[in-house]
Amino acid sequence: MRLDRASAALSDAGMPVAVAQMLDFHGGVLQIALPHGDPAKFRAILDTHFAPADLLVSAEDIREPQLFVSDMDSTMIGQECIDELADFAGLKKQVSAITERAMQGELDFESALKERVALLEGLDEEAIRQCLDERIAATPGARTLVATLKSRGCQTVLVTGGFHHFADPIAEKLGFHRVVGNRLGIRDGRLTGTLDGAIVDGATKQRILIEEMERLGPEAVSMAAGDGANDVRMIKAATYGIAYRAKPTLREKADGWIDRGDCTSILKLLQIPREEWVSG
Ligand SMILES: [Mg+2]
Repeated sequence: MRLDRASAALSDAGMPVAVAQMLDFHGGVLQIALPHGDPAKFRAILDTHFAPADLLVSAEDIREPQLFVSDMDSTMIGQECIDELADFAGLKKQVSAITERAMQGELDFESALKERVALLEGLDEEAIRQCLDERIAATPGARTLVATLKSRGCQTVLVTGGFHHFADPIAEKLGFHRVVGNRLGIRDGRLTGTLDGAIVDGATKQRILIEEMERLGPEAVSMAAGDGANDVRMIKAATYGIAYRAKPTLREKADGWIDRGDCTSILKLLQIPREEWVSG
């Protein structure tokens, strides 16, 4: 019945499609071809009738990417590292409230990051290792997603507004080729409350994607995944921008979203058959 209602809504929006034509399942994914559809309108209608769902809408045939760039916190892992780390300083509530507002796009990313890092001044560096061991877990399907894309020649980059202390071991575990992130200042085994080097923000994420694409050439296809406001520029720059269980501000800018399944839903949307998935 939802198909009927969606079909009627598409027809009302000037994108008529017969239900019979919509029923092309491939690996559990419903593929719909609309030669003259408006992608934004199409996404909105599918959202109305099928949410929560995983979807990817493209004006052209969907192709496998040669580049995959992903955010880390709340995308490739289930947590926000800085919030978990703040718990070791007894400041989780205060820090996570700032994180939430920054990810919703209500605060400037850089100043919100500096503010939270400053709150952690004096924390023992050992807390980072403990936090990683006890609190941080990969998002379901993340390893399979990265391993499968790599097996097909895709370059994979983890780019985070979080910290190398977390991102390096996580990238290694998940199999990413490259990691870009912020560096926590450490002196005498304690956090200085400042960051070393240039800040990785939303503009940096976008720049990394563009740089990698320039290396791959004009025919290359890129995919970016993220969940927060600082991922908007990267998502928009990519051929396919995926919002993973994302904040509304990012979701509305994306070409598709994962709201239902895990990271392997991306493989389904790319029409990579399950028997070709590589477990990480
Ligand atoms: Mg994130």
